[in-house]
Amino acid sequence: MQPYRGIYLFDGVGFDSNVYFIDGELIVDTGSGIYFKEIRDEIENLRFNPNKIKMIVNTHSHFAHSGGDKKFRDLLKIPVCIHAAEKKNLETGNVLAERFRKVSKSVTVDRVLHEGDVIDTTRFSFKVIHTPGHSPGSICLYDERRKILISGDTLFSDGPGRYDLPGGDRELLIDSLERLMNLNIMYLLPGHGMPKTGGIIYLIKQSLRKIK
Ligand SMILES: [Zn+2]
Repeated sequence: MQPYRGIYLFDGVGFDSNVYFIDGELIVDTGSGIYFKEIRDEIENLRFNPNKIKMIVNTHSHFAHSGGDKKFRDLLKIPVCIHAAEKKNLETGNVLAERFRKVSKSVTVDRVLHEGDVIDTTRFSFKVIHTPGHSPGSICLYDERRKILISGDTLFSDGPGRYDLPGGDRELLIDSLERLMNLNIMYLLPGHGMPKTGGIIYLIKQSLRKIK
């Protein structure tokens, strides 16, 4: 489905994260890798030029979001990018795979991201917003002009992300959600579950009430 014109969502099955394929140029999260072939086939069916796919961005390092990185990196020869705080997690395979009784594969990080970095595609321009709390290097991607927020596991369509996993921090998650309140968001594209259009400030307020 296309939650926004030019953005394809391959929604996660089971514990797998959502995979967003944007403008034929950018992959945001790769799922666990269990469904790599299916997702690859879906992308091929869209008939974009694979040579134009230029990078993989992880919203954070958890296995459900990053387990497919190595396979996509090997297939497409494109850089894997993640916030600096979780580079080491990806490179050492410390991504909580054991929680799903899976063995993680380490993957080289080609570029580290920081607050304020900008990731451009032909039609979109996403700013990196560092939103720790679910994990230390969680990021959201925000396209201000189109009012789109890709929120990883920081915010879902029905509430806040978890802060009780290793590296999680309730206070930091509260701070991060409060920062998101300052953004003008119309389209929320979360790391799991369905996207949401409108009512995002209300959602964030409710989410803060849940965890404060
Ligand atoms: Zn997570």
